[in-house]
Amino acid sequence: MENCEIGTLLARLRKEQGMTQRQLAEALRVSPQAVSKWERGKGCPDISLLPSLSRILGVALESLLLGDLATKETEVGNMKRIKFYVCPDCGNLLSATGGGEIHCCGRRLEPCLIRPADEAHTVRVEAAEENWYITFDHPMEKKHFIRFAACTAPDRVLLVRLYPEQGSELRIPQLRGGSRLLLGCSRDGLFEAKLPSRKPRNA
Ligand SMILES: [Zn+2]
Ligand SMILES: [Zn+2]
Repeated sequence: MENCEIGTLLARLRKEQGMTQRQLAEALRVSPQAVSKWERGKGCPDISLLPSLSRILGVALESLLLGDLATKETEVGNMKRIKFYVCPDCGNLLSATGGGEIHCCGRRLEPCLIRPADEAHTVRVEAAEENWYITFDHPMEKKHFIRFAACTAPDRVLLVRLYPEQGSELRIPQLRGGSRLLLGCSRDGLFEAKLPSRKPRNA
């Protein structure tokens, strides 16, 4: 952590919150001189203050530690680049199209890696009218089940949540234009299923 970087960031965030150095100092129970010192790059806040700083300034701890708030280019939510995140604690399913940080239950989640379906996660996909009709042999038990299926296209994502003890089949609407079908296993990760080539529709 470079002193000057965190100092500049602190000053910027403090001003965004409309706080004076004195107000921030009071909120942290430190002297205004301390805040002034940090902001001038002459030292760093004690690590024990970081949780309070993070709360008061409304930024993630990690951004404070890195002395950097993402000023990355906004990724124009291209669904092709959608990432899925599953919280190992509560099973919450989250998705993001940008590079943001995803947190759940106090942990930072890593995006699920998408792999081609292995034998255990191979599904049969049939086109049935406007839907994909998907059947599989994978277990649907509490400890090991297909948690969700997602159909992604460049402009949209459809997510179907599955539950243990339900049947090994599902229907998901077909999406046009380069759609992908992903299956999330509760134990083994995220797999991409093979889709049958789409029959040309009558013009
Ligand atoms: Zn969670
Ligand atoms: Zn599995």
